[in-house]
Amino acid sequence: MRDDAIRIEGLRKVYDGGKEALKGVDLTVPAGSVFGLLGPNGAGKSTLINILAGLVVKTEGRVTIWGWDQDVNPRQSRASIGVMPQELNLDPFFTPRGALEVQAGLYGVPKSQRRSEEILRMVGLEDKAEAYARTLSGGMRRRLLLGKALVHHPRVLVLDEPTAGVDIELRQMLWDNVRKLNRERGMTIILTTHYLEEAEEMCDEIAIINHGALVAQDSTANLLGQLDAKTMVIEPEEMPDTLPQADGITVERRDGGQLALSYHAHKTRAEDVLAMVREAGILIRDVRTEQADLQDVFLSLTRSA
Ligand code: ADP
Ligand code: MG
Repeated sequence: MRDDAIRIEGLRKVYDGGKEALKGVDLTVPAGSVFGLLGPNGAGKSTLINILAGLVVKTEGRVTIWGWDQDVNPRQSRASIGVMPQELNLDPFFTPRGALEVQAGLYGVPKSQRRSEEILRMVGLEDKAEAYARTLSGGMRRRLLLGKALVHHPRVLVLDEPTAGVDIELRQMLWDNVRKLNRERGMTIILTTHYLEEAEEMCDEIAIINHGALVAQDSTANLLGQLDAKTMVIEPEEMPDTLPQADGITVERRDGGQLALSYHAHKTRAEDVLAMVREAGILIRDVRTEQADLQDVFLSLTRSA
């Protein structure tokens, strides 16, 4: 077993026309993990994914997939990764079974090792195996794209915004499949999303990318620690002489006779904060809450970088 499924060093991409989509990214994806690449639209997620997939040519840097340097061993590195792209690009005249067979052929999978039927079952397209792709719904196309990414038994599966604009049922189905592939086959999963909850639910580790630069890479738990910071700002009837104290709550005076009580929502409930205030005998004249959203975290991370 390898330690790193993917190693990216100094990755830059400048598109024709001059747009610098990646500005020297270093990133390591641990083998066996479910890894989330998070960032707002235009951050560079698809560019990075498409470079991994061999669909976009990098300008500079080194990409190693399952130990294979993309430039030194392009065939092995390509064989180690399967990508479900963001775009629904399917040949309209292929049936799902045909598309899987052609894809397997492209990757040189011998007939005896093909698993088209298993994959069709897995993505719930066995009933549509002989339907033309142009007659498939958006959800079915997406499932077929997942199937296509799996034909060559890749070590690493990459999903680019797999659930953007899909209904709850399909989303659930995709996630069930992804979890299964990770747990039962040890497949390393990389997914991009701009839904924070999704990354929270699925990923062991998260990298945040913004304007083509990595601004954080950490375990999901640590990152959420930053993301769920909340502050309750109260205006007491009367400012106490000594500030109240409780575990997990930071209390500060603010201008205008206010108290700012900061806490982390995954550890402390709003009720605990209010109880602390009541126990200190403070009467609340007014109260409001402030909380960090993803944008705040992006901002604070880019500022500190
Ligand atoms: P994300 O997937 O995070 O939304 P992308 O990687 O698609 O971001 O895009 C990153 C930046 O590169 C954006 O500013 C986008 O407009 C630009 N870009 C993406 N693809 C191309 C292309 N083929 N030619 C020129 N610019 C591009
Ligand atoms: Mg994208």
